[in-house]
Amino acid sequence: MGRRSYAKAAALCAAGVLAVSGCAGDGQEDGSDGSDGVSVVTGAYPLQWLAGQVGGDRVEVETLAEPGTDPHELELSPRQIGSVGSADVAFYIGGLQPAVDDAVSSQGGENALDVAELVELRTLEDNAGSDGGDHGHEEGGHESGHEDDHGGDEAADDGDGHSHDAGEPDPHMWLDTERFARAAEGLAERLGEADPDHAADYADNAEAVTGLLDGIDTEYSQGLAECESRDIVVSHSAFGYLAARYDLHQISPAGLDSHSEPSPGRLAEISETVRESDITTVFTEPLTDSGAAETIAGEAGVDTAVLDPVGGVTDASPGEDYPSIMRANLDTLGEALRCS
Ligand SMILES: [Zn+2]
Repeated sequence: MGRRSYAKAAALCAAGVLAVSGCAGDGQEDGSDGSDGVSVVTGAYPLQWLAGQVGGDRVEVETLAEPGTDPHELELSPRQIGSVGSADVAFYIGGLQPAVDDAVSSQGGENALDVAELVELRTLEDNAGSDGGDHGHEEGGHESGHEDDHGGDEAADDGDGHSHDAGEPDPHMWLDTERFARAAEGLAERLGEADPDHAADYADNAEAVTGLLDGIDTEYSQGLAECESRDIVVSHSAFGYLAARYDLHQISPAGLDSHSEPSPGRLAEISETVRESDITTVFTEPLTDSGAAETIAGEAGVDTAVLDPVGGVTDASPGEDYPSIMRANLDTLGEALRCS
């Protein structure tokens, strides 16, 4: 396994595909040169965490994102692009990080494991559907429901010229514990193919992480069962999965990308919604510019609190890993939505 990866990296280097500096010591760093374990390269913190859980001691996990950086903004060095090709498994979420999508396709993609192939991703359209349909928000007082989703689209288009349509997949699937558990199973299967001697270990690990995720899911279902408000005003549309799963209503000034720039009109519209409703808190994020959320909170005269989309971990994160951040988010939601 390791030998094959090393050979592949060496061949790419010989062919001059990588910068010379990117090739020197490449195998050393990702542990794929002749050592026994399996190497996994991931693009974002949640997948790094999941791969660590499922892989255990036998799997070397390299993450492409610097700790504490916004996963949407990722750029890759030539060495990192090389490691996407040379790792035994490139574990990523198509659509989350264009740089990783590009690296996978430029490296041939034989080792690629796209989470979107393991679980069905929600789309902007699904998020729109859940606003009215699931929650009975149609019945007056929530006329902002449809405009929310338009606002998201417009904001996304305003950004850097990417066009976003309603069918665009929402990559933030790790905020759905059930989908995340299915991704763990899919990864365990792939690791078992790469390292058949330990396939049973990977399956056991996936089962353990599924149990952990089920536990968090139960805490959320119970913690958010009875709340005075179910509206969450967030910085960017990262919480569609969470909202759908626990019957919350996401209101966001920005689209699926954290760097999409909301229009002043959209901000004013949400501020008015907040002022006219029983919303007490607007949520900010630790890793991205939450200026829009702070503007809304200021205009509406309500508090802000950190609701972390778990894109990465820093000192500013409300926990030190996926489970603790998810639990901190639940406490924050419970307080802001006045759940009993
Ligand atoms: Zn995001």
